[in-house]
Amino acid sequence: MKIDKLLRNNIRKLTPYSSARTEYRGGDAVFLDANENPYNPPFNRYPDPLQNDLKSKISSLRNIPVENLFLGNGSDEAIDLIFRSFCEPGRDNVISLVPSYGMYTVCADINDVAVKTVSLAPKFRFDKQAVLNAIDRHTKAVFICSPNNPTGNLFNEADVLEVAESFDGLMVVDEAYIDFSGSRGFLPFLERYSNMVVLQTFSKAWALAGIRLGMAFADPEIIRVMTKVKYPYNVSALTQQMAMKALNESGERNRWIETIREQRIRIEEALKGFEFVEEVFPSDANFILVRVNDPDRVYQYLLNRKVVVRNRSKLPMCAGCLRITVGNENENGLFLKHLEAYGREFDKSN
Ligand SMILES: *Cc1c(COP(=O)(O)O)cnc(C)c1O
Repeated sequence: MKIDKLLRNNIRKLTPYSSARTEYRGGDAVFLDANENPYNPPFNRYPDPLQNDLKSKISSLRNIPVENLFLGNGSDEAIDLIFRSFCEPGRDNVISLVPSYGMYTVCADINDVAVKTVSLAPKFRFDKQAVLNAIDRHTKAVFICSPNNPTGNLFNEADVLEVAESFDGLMVVDEAYIDFSGSRGFLPFLERYSNMVVLQTFSKAWALAGIRLGMAFADPEIIRVMTKVKYPYNVSALTQQMAMKALNESGERNRWIETIREQRIRIEEALKGFEFVEEVFPSDANFILVRVNDPDRVYQYLLNRKVVVRNRSKLPMCAGCLRITVGNENENGLFLKHLEAYGREFDKSN
C-alpha cells in the first residue's frame, strides 16, 4: 500500500521539530544543549523523545520490531494522530461502527473530519458488507474495536481481514481489551496487511490508566509518520519509568487478568439469576453489558448506594443496557448485594 498517497498534504511536506536529545544519541555527557536546569536529578532532564528503552522492552515481549511500534499519551493520542496525519479536514471521512467507543467520533469532530457510521449486525457482529459498502474515495480509515466497547464481543477475524484486504486506507483495530479475551488478536497479521494499525493500551490489563500510555503497532512507514507529527516529549519520564517497572513484573498482571476473568464469570452467573435482568451479553473483556427492564431505575438505585456503573441505554442497539466493569472480589460482592436488594424491592411490583 502507498502510505504516502494517504497522507495529508501539509504532513507530507512537514519538517518535524528536531529536539536536542534526538540529535545526540550517546550516553553520559555534559548536557548544555537543552536549557535544562542542572539541579534536581533525574527529572530535571527531558525524557527520551523516542522512548527507546521502553520500546525495546515491549518489542522483545511482543516479538515485534521497534520500527513497528509507536508510544503515545494513551491510545487516545494515537487515534488523534491518525486524524491529524492522514485526514484532510472538510474533505476526508472515516468509518466508525455503532455502538462502539465514542472517542473515534469525538476525535473526528475535533479535526473536522466526517464520520460515516455503520451499524453492527445482530448479536453485535461485525458487518463486513455494510462496511465495504460505506467506503468511498475519501475514506481514509476504518475504526473498529475488538473486543468491542461497550458490547464486549470479539469480531470475526476473517471478516475484518477481508475489509483490510480490499481497502486502500487504514484499518485501525483497537485492542484495548484483547488481554481479557482468549484471542491472539490482529498483531500476527501486521506483516501481511501494511494498512493495519493495532492499538493497545496500558490502561486496562496493565492496570496503569493513570500514567497515560498507549501503543500503536503498524507498518514502519505509518509509525514514522505518527512519530513525526507527535509532540516531541509526548511520554513523560515518570510514565516511561512506571511502564518499565510494570513490564519487569508482568507476573502480577497475569494474575490480575486471571482473577478478573473468574470474577467476570461470577457476575455473569449471578446476573442471569435476577428477574429484572433480560439478557447478559457474552463478554471477552473486563466488563459486561447487561439488559435490564428499567435501566435508569437500576442505575439510580446503585448510584444512591455509591456504586457507579455506566448507563449505555441511550446508545443504538443498547436499549435497556448497563455496562458493568468487573471490579475486585469485594466490589463485585457489594454490587451484587445491592442488586439482590433491588430485586426484592422491585421484582414483585413489576
Ligand atoms: C479504555 C479504552 C481505551 C484506552 O484508552 P487510553 O487512552 O489508552 O486510556 C482505548 N480504546 C477503547 C475502546 C477503550 O475502551
